[in-house]
Amino acid sequence: MKNNSVVKVMPQQGPSVASRMKDVLEMLGEDPSREGLLRTPERYEKAMRYLTSGYTANLEEIVNNALFSVKSDSMVIVKDIEFFSMCEHHMLPFFGRMHVGYLPKDKVIGLSKIPRIIDMFARRLQLQERLTQQVGEAMTEAVGPRGVGVLCEARHFCMMMRGVEKQHSGTVTSTMLGAFRSNRATRDEFLSLVGRPV
Ligand SMILES: [Zn+2]
Repeated sequence: MKNNSVVKVMPQQGPSVASRMKDVLEMLGEDPSREGLLRTPERYEKAMRYLTSGYTANLEEIVNNALFSVKSDSMVIVKDIEFFSMCEHHMLPFFGRMHVGYLPKDKVIGLSKIPRIIDMFARRLQLQERLTQQVGEAMTEAVGPRGVGVLCEARHFCMMMRGVEKQHSGTVTSTMLGAFRSNRATRDEFLSLVGRPV
């Protein structure tokens, strides 16, 4: 699912990230003046500013009144929303899919808004656990539903490329709020609809 979040890049203050990256390249034994690396510090800074642009995203701006009154109280689920984030411990990517479900009280949110809410929190230095929780809380704040469930399946480069070097292990985190926490049938319905054993 592709989407374009409102990207606001933090204004630059003091020395640029790029100028520091030249030193980092040297410290890693590289020659920052060789052709392939000449513009790498600037590219790196640009990429990092984009990947952390979630800090300046605003929930209200993202939702932008895309809330619609409903009589139905059936569960709404958006499955398999891909996301890319970076772990705060190693600043290496982790990525995967998120499944978000909620039970409307009196309104529903435009479905395309849910991936953008995820990006708002994924484009930060994160822990998968916190990312999952923040998406659940933001959905609660934005929609005021009877409950929210978020299931997040991810793979972490810091595990795949270094450390334990396990290529195929995944990490699953979940957040259950409101009726999804208090009502087992609701939680089970969500988990079975997203294809997880209940
Ligand atoms: Zn890590």
